[in-house]
Amino acid sequence: MDEIAEFAPKVLDNMRQPSEDRYITVSRARIHVRLPADFLLVAAMNPCPCGGGAPGACQCNDAHLQRYVRRLSGPILDRFDLRVNVHRPGVEELLSHEPGESSAVVAERVAEARRLAEERQGCLNSRLSGSRLDEFAPIDDAGRAVLRYELEHDRLSARGYHRIRRVARSLVDLRSAPSLQIDEEAIQVALGLRASLNTTMRVGRVA
Ligand SMILES: [Zn+2]
Repeated sequence: MDEIAEFAPKVLDNMRQPSEDRYITVSRARIHVRLPADFLLVAAMNPCPCGGGAPGACQCNDAHLQRYVRRLSGPILDRFDLRVNVHRPGVEELLSHEPGESSAVVAERVAEARRLAEERQGCLNSRLSGSRLDEFAPIDDAGRAVLRYELEHDRLSARGYHRIRRVARSLVDLRSAPSLQIDEEAIQVALGLRASLNTTMRVGRVA
């Protein structure tokens, strides 16, 4: 969904249930039909309603920004495993001809991590339930302390807690020498990939 903040909030909130149940029930008069709805949601939005433009060119005031951010409810945001602030490329970066890592190489690494997960637990990491996470993604003491801090300071919901653990499981699986245990570094990176929208906005405005 490109420009996700432009969709009606009701449309977005209606996606919450199917995104967890992986089916959708359509009711018309006396007919109820259950249809499969297993999807991966990828969405993008601008840092602010005017799109940001060149540095210093943003014309949005705080009220504009608040209204824009509020279009995405907390519960829908909470369901995104990865929330990444895409920075504006610098001049040097734009002019540089150095190629990045090729998608084919990244795809191989991802395929290997998926194979590892299937072999270990018979499903992808995103499908691990809370109790199976205890078995297949045990966290070391330092990592556990970080999560405790986030939970105690209300920076992580119960749903977010499980999502962080699944993402951290995948991060460890992507390493060259994956282990069963999840360490603090993986937890920190997973938390960093869950940027808060408000921070993103501020960063977007300043950048
Ligand atoms: Zn703006």
